[in-house]
Amino acid sequence: MRGTSTLGLPSHLTALAALLFIAPLGLAAQTQTPSASQNDPAEVVRRLMDEEVARGEAYSMLQELCTGLPHRLSGSEDAANAEAWALKRMRAAGLQNVRLEECTVPHWVRGRIARLGVVTPAEAKLAPLPILALGGSIATPPGGLRGRVVVVRSWDELKTRAAEARGAILLLDRPMDPTEHDPFEAYGKAVDQRGRGAVEGAKVGAKAVLVRSMTLRLDDFPHTGAMHYDDGVTKIPAAAISTAGAERLAALVRAHAAVEVELELDCKELPDVTAHNVVGEIVGRERPDEFVVVGGHLDAWDVGEGAHDDGAGCVQAIEALRLVRALGPVPRRSLRCVLWMNEENGLRGARAYKAAHAAELDRHVLTIESDRGGFAPRGFGTNAAGAAWDALAGIAALLAPGGAGTLEHGGGGADTSPLEAAGGNVMELLPDPARYFDYHPSARDTVDQVHPRELALGAGALASLAWCVAELPDALPRPTPAATPPPASK
Ligand SMILES: [Zn+2]
Repeated sequence: MRGTSTLGLPSHLTALAALLFIAPLGLAAQTQTPSASQNDPAEVVRRLMDEEVARGEAYSMLQELCTGLPHRLSGSEDAANAEAWALKRMRAAGLQNVRLEECTVPHWVRGRIARLGVVTPAEAKLAPLPILALGGSIATPPGGLRGRVVVVRSWDELKTRAAEARGAILLLDRPMDPTEHDPFEAYGKAVDQRGRGAVEGAKVGAKAVLVRSMTLRLDDFPHTGAMHYDDGVTKIPAAAISTAGAERLAALVRAHAAVEVELELDCKELPDVTAHNVVGEIVGRERPDEFVVVGGHLDAWDVGEGAHDDGAGCVQAIEALRLVRALGPVPRRSLRCVLWMNEENGLRGARAYKAAHAAELDRHVLTIESDRGGFAPRGFGTNAAGAAWDALAGIAALLAPGGAGTLEHGGGGADTSPLEAAGGNVMELLPDPARYFDYHPSARDTVDQVHPRELALGAGALASLAWCVAELPDALPRPTPAATPPPASK
């Protein structure tokens, strides 16, 4: 469009401003220019945010998903019904090209028994020791198995005490480090116990492993999560024990020479099943074959309601496109909402997406994931660099009034990791991280623990950022081949 911009700048300067997305747009945000053009990023961001906090539908969608289909673990009935729910929601939001894209997923079931009791000393009067099988664990023999408890806090300690651990039930009791300011850093330093505990335990001849739950809180909610076995290493059962339960058991072991417990689990792995990613789009007005993707993962663990992890990310992604569809304007490039299946215990949906879209990966301008809970947004993390970083920083600055104005290096979640490995720009919505591990993934992760306003601010920020990137005159340059390894599944 020729002429003078609403900021009073000649149009070529407006174009430059749009390219850089920095000063003039920041000015517009500050001055709330009332007559800004329909496609002015600052004006569009303001309208999207206004609409979301006033009349957003993210929370009502989350209530519907979490109360109707709380246990969405891959292969389950709730997961299959959640696919149908997402199709319906995307169509109701007016998205285009709404469809299912096939993937094959594991089908592990928890069973009904998760029991841990102290056998010796018989006089021990311990409060119950709440446990949950870790995802992927084998069962114990029916009736359970018994073993002495050996408590270790590091792999070095396990090595040193290998003879003692033989035939024992290990308690892997290294807490998340409370001196880490970022809980995700603390999680990263402890979660190896959950992932490889059964393998390391089996290598020293342990019968089973109990893993201290991955949370900074001291409470009686065990937190499940993924674990793995290695080919050629005996499979032994693995369960998470609540942090308070781990403290009680470790104290008993300190007080008595020999503590014996009985553990029973009846979980099992069934044959793989066919499942789907759910996809919907807003077709771009000028470059429909270039994509800005927003998404979350539709599967969730089978305890709680999968509200923060990751029902919140799913409804924010649908809501982001619903908002754009409802308010317009349609951006230059296409927006695509992807709800991935099987993030929690396999990442099969993310890998299937990459394979199915191999021919257009170089036209994925940016892929944004929301998978850190529905808390108040603080900003975004990205692997983008150079000019792409500058453009994203300019856009992020527009989101400061809603609290989401920071841009951090690093980012992208588990589901975006295959696309990052393929050389794409990825990004992750970064909400306040303080309480995420209070809920993830435990019986506490319920919709009533998500604040509607915080969820809405995140959805608005996601919509705004995606729209601005889809509207940029030039596509973001792709990063140089990534050196970053894919993040661990959360
Ligand atoms: Zn997640």
